[in-house]
Amino acid sequence: MLKGKTAVITGGTRGIGFAIAEKFLENGANVAIAGSRKETVDKALERLEGYKDRVMGIWPDLVSPDEVKAAFDSVKDRFGSLDILINNAGISSRTSIYDYTIEEFEKIIDLNFKAVFVCSQAAARIMKKEGGGVIINTSSMVGKFGQPSGCGYPATKFAVNGMTQSLARELAKDNIRVNAVAPGVTRTDMVASLPKEMVDRISQNIPLGRPGEPVDVANAYLYLASDMASYVTGTILSVDGAAMN
Ligand code: NAD
Repeated sequence: MLKGKTAVITGGTRGIGFAIAEKFLENGANVAIAGSRKETVDKALERLEGYKDRVMGIWPDLVSPDEVKAAFDSVKDRFGSLDILINNAGISSRTSIYDYTIEEFEKIIDLNFKAVFVCSQAAARIMKKEGGGVIINTSSMVGKFGQPSGCGYPATKFAVNGMTQSLARELAKDNIRVNAVAPGVTRTDMVASLPKEMVDRISQNIPLGRPGEPVDVANAYLYLASDMASYVTGTILSVDGAAMN
């Protein structure tokens, strides 16, 4: 479904991002995995050894326009184009409003939201010259109703939804589609860090009766990245077992 296309996946070293990388590689894409450190990127690349001709790693500071531009240019140099950007890197928080430090709040805003702006800008500049492309952001089910602690996290996901819908409108004329996927509870390290009782309680309220697997979520990215979704832009696709619907 993605033969000959090149994708950058931020937060591609594990969890949902890694599942997207595998899914895209299975479907013929070239993939650049963007992680926070060379060591974690190298570990992810080792797991993708079978695809070594079509996969590379980058580790720019995602809020630095210069570093991101240089990294995306290196992807274009290696594979000849940049067709798909997946803004997926993210960190979560459960800190109470009474305990938040401004540093923790800014760290979440920086990675979950500012980086989406910086990476989208850098990618859109390349895609416009190439005649089009696809940007897909990772939102969350908590970007609909919020959550009862760690207010910075859902706030960034509401912001990501706003960025998605706005950029879809702005970039349509340049043939760049912009969508988001809003996962529900998905079995990754992010969820492993939550108390078991909390995960059990959340799972009981999922109509499909189980948490999502990273591959459940990756399938939605494959659809949105492919030409199957050629008339889909500005949408926020829930992949949450109807947890919050
Ligand atoms: P994860 O913790 O398994 O992976 C997070 C990824 O982000 C890793 O690849 C990590 O290297 C990367 N990352 C962290 N800090 C970074 C930094 N400073 N610079 C670059 N990369 C950095 O989490 P996940 O569950 O796979 O989450 C991926 C995305 O999905 C996030 O945006 C998260 O908010 C969203 N999400 C997850 C769930 C869930 O239940 N797991 C639900 C809804 C949304």
